[in-house]
Amino acid sequence: MASNPQAKSSFHMSPEEFREQGHAVVDWIANYYRRIESFPVMSRVLPGEIRESLPKEAPVQPEPFERILGDIEKIILPGITHWQSPNFFAYFPSNASGPAILGDLLASGFGVQGMLWATSPACTELETHVLDWLVTALALPGKFRSAGNGGGVIQDTASSSALCAVLAARERATNFEANRAGARQKMTAYTSSQSHSSIEKAIKIAGLGSDNLRLIEVDESFAMRPAMLADAVKLDKAAGRIPFFVCGTVGTTSSNGMDPLEEIGRVCREFNLWFHVDSAMSGTAAICPEFRHFQEGIEYADSYCFNPHKWMFTNFDCDCFYVADRKALIEALSVLPEYLRNKATESGAVIDYRDWHVPLGRRFRALKLWFVLRYYGIEGLQFHVREHVRLAQEFAKWVLGDKRFELVVPPPLNLVCFRLNASDEVNQQLMDALNRSGDLFLTHTKLRGRLVLRMSIGQTNTAQHHLEKAWERIQEEASRLV
Ligand code: PLP
Repeated sequence: MASNPQAKSSFHMSPEEFREQGHAVVDWIANYYRRIESFPVMSRVLPGEIRESLPKEAPVQPEPFERILGDIEKIILPGITHWQSPNFFAYFPSNASGPAILGDLLASGFGVQGMLWATSPACTELETHVLDWLVTALALPGKFRSAGNGGGVIQDTASSSALCAVLAARERATNFEANRAGARQKMTAYTSSQSHSSIEKAIKIAGLGSDNLRLIEVDESFAMRPAMLADAVKLDKAAGRIPFFVCGTVGTTSSNGMDPLEEIGRVCREFNLWFHVDSAMSGTAAICPEFRHFQEGIEYADSYCFNPHKWMFTNFDCDCFYVADRKALIEALSVLPEYLRNKATESGAVIDYRDWHVPLGRRFRALKLWFVLRYYGIEGLQFHVREHVRLAQEFAKWVLGDKRFELVVPPPLNLVCFRLNASDEVNQQLMDALNRSGDLFLTHTKLRGRLVLRMSIGQTNTAQHHLEKAWERIQEEASRLV
């Protein structure tokens, strides 16, 4: 049935038409995954090209759905960088999966806004439950479970988790008076020189001033040096400042560096500092017992986050944020206007997640995570995580076996940092040529001042033959340059 706007009694899409067009969209997505490897991984459009293909103003007359969907193929597809291609090795993965896409579709179908328990009890209770499941599945400390004083919440991103951690820490350190003028000026925070830019952003947003964030030096494996952290804290205290927050990272963005949580945690305990652990990408690895040593010392943490939207096959956006003491977080963020008062909240028997993050409104994100956990099972997730790590270790061996290349640091998990033994300029040329070819997409960083290429292995469908082909292409392009 072709949709004919003239024949409709209203402008809405009827459930029947939704069914028909919904099937067409699901077909389109399934076909997209079938042919994804035929597209250049990195979009080739020029700045402004997509907008030029679009009408200057919004349509006045309704358009048939078929035409709208047709423009996905014609206008949008060329401007897509294919994050779900198995040849995507850039940044960190943002891997998706069938069950997650379908869970997300259902969340859209319900269209609930779960700001309060009362606004859709299932939205809150499923989230609490699934986050409790993950405490066990990832062997996180029991204090992060909702049954005690702690609990977990889904945030949009690790950046939001970092911000909430900083805000809760700021309030706890000032007896919940940091919003009073002048109270924040002397507060100092600490993280390593390798931590993610979202930590600095959180400090800026929290009104603490990026000058008050100390970037602690790292060792040869790009892990924070706890002794230098302790020295910096002591120096600040001696100068009359108020150290209050430390962020450690399990799996830094540049090189997958692993901060020593245990030693950092002890410093935090000694000086009564809030300890946040950012495990955005690498946290998923803890699903496998053999990779849990990277989070030794996590029991010192006041808060912790990892992103199922990076490596746990759960479509963006989905970050799991845990706190050991939910009171500190809620007290920092809660403002209760009259129009949100309700009996369930007043009973004290429910969680209202609106108090656990910056926005009021929230999507039913737990559905997609629940679908993933049930569809894969812990075993399925372990299987794929192990496979990604195995592939990365394999790739590192290939790099070591070719004298033209250098393995910059042994890969702890699924990120391989390497470079051609040549200038930064030549390495940049190598990466640009590979990305221009469309065969694969990888990105760079700077480590010890040198440009380094990053092979980040975590896309859902990346298999051995994709890696072999990628390495072949890298060697081929290298032969043209050195
Ligand atoms: N922390 C680390 C270690 C990351 O690698 C990243 C992103 O790559 C982030 C935080 C930010 O993630 P998000 O986009 O969820 O804010």
